[in-house]
Amino acid sequence: MDFEAFFKSELDGLHTEGRYRVFADLERHRGNFPRATRHTPDGPKEVTVWCSNDYLGMGQHPAVIEAMKEAIDHCGAGAGGTRNISGTTHYHVLLERELADLHGKEAGLIFNSGYMSNWATLGTLGQKIPGLIIFSDALNHASMIEGIRYAKCERMIWKHNDLDDLEAKLAAADPSAPKLIAFESVYSMDGDIAPIKEICDLADKYGAMTYLDEVHAVGMYGPRGGGIAEREGLMDRLTVIEGTLGKAFGVMGGYIAASAALCDFIRSFASGFIFTTALPPTLAAGALASIRHLKASPFERVRHQDRVRKLRTMLDQRGIPHMHNPSHIVPVMVGDAAKCKWISDILLDTCDVYVQPINYPTVAKKTERLRITPTPLHSDADIEHLVGSLHQLWSRCALARHVA
Ligand SMILES: *Cc1c(COP(=O)(O)O)cnc(C)c1O
Repeated sequence: MDFEAFFKSELDGLHTEGRYRVFADLERHRGNFPRATRHTPDGPKEVTVWCSNDYLGMGQHPAVIEAMKEAIDHCGAGAGGTRNISGTTHYHVLLERELADLHGKEAGLIFNSGYMSNWATLGTLGQKIPGLIIFSDALNHASMIEGIRYAKCERMIWKHNDLDDLEAKLAAADPSAPKLIAFESVYSMDGDIAPIKEICDLADKYGAMTYLDEVHAVGMYGPRGGGIAEREGLMDRLTVIEGTLGKAFGVMGGYIAASAALCDFIRSFASGFIFTTALPPTLAAGALASIRHLKASPFERVRHQDRVRKLRTMLDQRGIPHMHNPSHIVPVMVGDAAKCKWISDILLDTCDVYVQPINYPTVAKKTERLRITPTPLHSDADIEHLVGSLHQLWSRCALARHVA
């Protein structure tokens, strides 16, 4: 087989469909978020980042940076091993305690990413619990889908956020089979929020465990940044809360918070936890500082929501269509892959505004969009510049406006 030709022809397919991914070559600057330097063939350019998942700018927060520097000065670069074989540093232990406390659970368990935490935890639960059926929301993240696939257990996909469909599927399943309902709180592309309480009620009725991915909510919602379940007083009703240290906490890594027995079980049986080098202590130290800061400080959350409101209001004033949802994610709908990429390119090349186009398969075809994520560090002038640029492009591209 001509392997090279195969790779190239597969890539040509992506180009033809207009969904070949091009990375922006960025250099973030300490203390200067959301500004970044973008390296282009014509040299470096200053851009404003409007699509970062560093939702609160914590990746640039002095408390986080200081903690990371201190950890690296104190104990060096890497962890030096898997968690079991010399890689557990005191920072990891403190971080797991902090995460358990954040979510009101007995224990926390860290993974090298949120992807790994979903994949390893769902995969291990599904493999090890005899006869487990996993009920998975249709819009769950790829990492949950892959974990459930790897589990090779029975799975039922229920319609996104649809309680009737979930209940119908729970009721149709063998009443004696162990069950787990896997879902997210804030869904990353539409920014809608699951009916967590009602899902927990169904879980109680049918004797199911609940697994909630709060990746797009931790740090940002709830009085201490514990997520939507904290805000709604529901944390104790969830069997497992999963989160990331890489989005609002601004660093990297993933975790679950659950009972001591469940965390110990995953720690002891999950391949994706056991056979990989532990996070560097400096990342654990940075995440710890970030969580502690956001637990005590509502300032970032309040300012974040204020920026989101401001952006939505200004988009409405200009008739730029965006999905109305109760979260901080502002999807500006384009509905065409080529136009979406074109608008994103022009914003970047002529307006110094960086918003990555979101195309299939991340979202359904005809729902292509610009996924805009305001942060507490975007100023009024930044928002005005973004909306003004979109306004001009909407006219040039003859895109439909939303009539208020
Ligand atoms: C980003 C994401 C993850 C993965 O988290 P990482 O820490 O980036 O690996 C998991 N779930 C959802 C819903 C996500 O959007």
